[in-house]
Amino acid sequence: MKKQIQESLYPGWGQSFGMDEVLFEHQTDHQHLVIFNNQRWGTVMMLDGVVQTTEKDEFIYHEMMTHVPMLSHPEPKNVLIIGGGDGGILREVLKHPTVESVTQVEIDQAVIDMCVKYLPNHSSGAFEDPRVKVVIDDGVNFVDQCEERFDVIISDSTDPIGPGESLFTSRFYQGIAQCLDKNGVFVAQNGVSFMQMDEVTTSHQRLTPCFKEVTFYAAAVPTYVGGIMTFAWATQNPELQSTSTDDLLQRQLDRGIKTNYYRPAVHQASFALPAYVIDAIEAV
Ligand code: SAM
Repeated sequence: MKKQIQESLYPGWGQSFGMDEVLFEHQTDHQHLVIFNNQRWGTVMMLDGVVQTTEKDEFIYHEMMTHVPMLSHPEPKNVLIIGGGDGGILREVLKHPTVESVTQVEIDQAVIDMCVKYLPNHSSGAFEDPRVKVVIDDGVNFVDQCEERFDVIISDSTDPIGPGESLFTSRFYQGIAQCLDKNGVFVAQNGVSFMQMDEVTTSHQRLTPCFKEVTFYAAAVPTYVGGIMTFAWATQNPELQSTSTDDLLQRQLDRGIKTNYYRPAVHQASFALPAYVIDAIEAV
């Protein structure tokens, strides 16, 4: 496993976990899926040797990926999730009573099935919600053919190696721009910037021709090692990002959204990026 980690994401450096009990291990049609227990992180899910989510710190990632776009939007009704097979984003999206329908496009049915079984608190029954439609497909195929319009689109993908690679392409971003409402917002996990700076600069370059405003926000997620995790933010409506702290708080209260990491002040601050990230984007 250690050899795989080093070779797959950060050559020459890796992270290791003790496996107290392996709950599931299988080469699916798309990737190598392992779910195991670890004494510090609880149940952990890995794909192709890269940690995807752990019971202990998943709330940081899922709350920031979900509530930053959802509370920036005055009334998100139709939501699209790409990837996200563990169900954590879906759980958070469904906390918003404004939501009428959620489409989730996940390439690998096995991730959904095994996470419902071994990480049940991630989805907390969300896949059974009548507002949810699950499509098993590559996210790129879906957005290419989709004629619907969404208020919020969240790409909770793997890194741009293996099946996740297509979710960082210009073709995918063009498809997203077509299915995003003119007042909607798209967010995407964009890697740990210190370790994956080319991912930030490439995404910025590829998103810019498709949207009026492209930027990033950040959060530190302990098991995504190497510094801050960056999230791409793209929209045709730049006003969404300037929603005031008071308005965000009012929406959070009105919608009854209880969180463990997200706060409107954290939301606002998350768009303040370190100089090295801004310099790298501007240097391209
Ligand atoms: N939070 C994690 C991270 O940043 O490390 C990622 C979460 S994991 C649930 C990502 C999901 O994206 C996986 O379930 C994987 O099967 C799915 N996925 C990867 N490539 C995809 C594609 N091309 N289309 C749809 N889903 C994809």
